[in-house]
Amino acid sequence: MIEVRQLKKDFGSLSVLNQISFDVKPGEVVAVIGPSGSGKSTMLRSLVHLEEVTGGSISICGKALVEDGRYASTANIRDITSRMGMVFQHFNLFPHLSVRDNLELAPRTLKRESVQQITAKSRELLSKVGLSDKADVYPSTLSGGQKQRVAIARAMMLSPDILLFDEPTSALDPELTGEVLRVIRQLAEENMTMMIVTHEMSFARDVADRVFFMDNGDIAESGTPEEIFGSPKLERTRAFLMRE
Ligand code: ATP
Ligand code: MG
Repeated sequence: MIEVRQLKKDFGSLSVLNQISFDVKPGEVVAVIGPSGSGKSTMLRSLVHLEEVTGGSISICGKALVEDGRYASTANIRDITSRMGMVFQHFNLFPHLSVRDNLELAPRTLKRESVQQITAKSRELLSKVGLSDKADVYPSTLSGGQKQRVAIARAMMLSPDILLFDEPTSALDPELTGEVLRVIRQLAEENMTMMIVTHEMSFARDVADRVFFMDNGDIAESGTPEEIFGSPKLERTRAFLMRE
């Protein structure tokens, strides 16, 4: 579903992704952990073309987004990246649009479905995240947990094959993280393919099929939650987990 080979990203003279390679299979949930600055966000952002990589290959659902550093055509990039939904730490909702319009903007612009289908879908997704009663309000009136659930519903409007989460609960008060993690856990049970950057170790342990430990632009260690949390091979993985 996701195939990454020798992925390299430099910011000027700083090497941020150091030729990383991995696969994510359909229905798999991968938790990505690691210290600040290790390249977790850059890796996710590269998958959805929010960053141009310096080299290497990314293919999504069998289609090459970038191959040996050469990108697909603009139309193909749009097609490939629209198979993925992304949820950010700071929600990134449009403040001047109602909750419903936040969900419907992208699908209405793309015009792949009728207005009726889009409206039905936004209603269904708001119900799924427990926010049916909030369709007509503006984001500023919502709690952080509600905003993030809107962001998750919005990310699902184009029926993505893959969802990417970059620290979805890091901006939330502790009492609000549970409602967001519950939605993500439900998606995992429905076999959604997901990559989740998180500092919530108990959540990662609980929901992930595999865990990547990133350090210094590398996936230093990967394995099942039992392997990574129970018996990490590397001293730096152990040291990181002790600090968290
Ligand atoms: P955190 O846990 O703090 O979110 P992270 O693992 O997500 O960290 P990244 O945001 O991917 O780390 O950043 C990796 C490195 O790339 C850092 O050294 C960061 O300063 C650098 N970096 C990220 N974006 C840019 C940019 N636009 N320009 C220059 N350097 C950048
Ligand atoms: Mg980050």
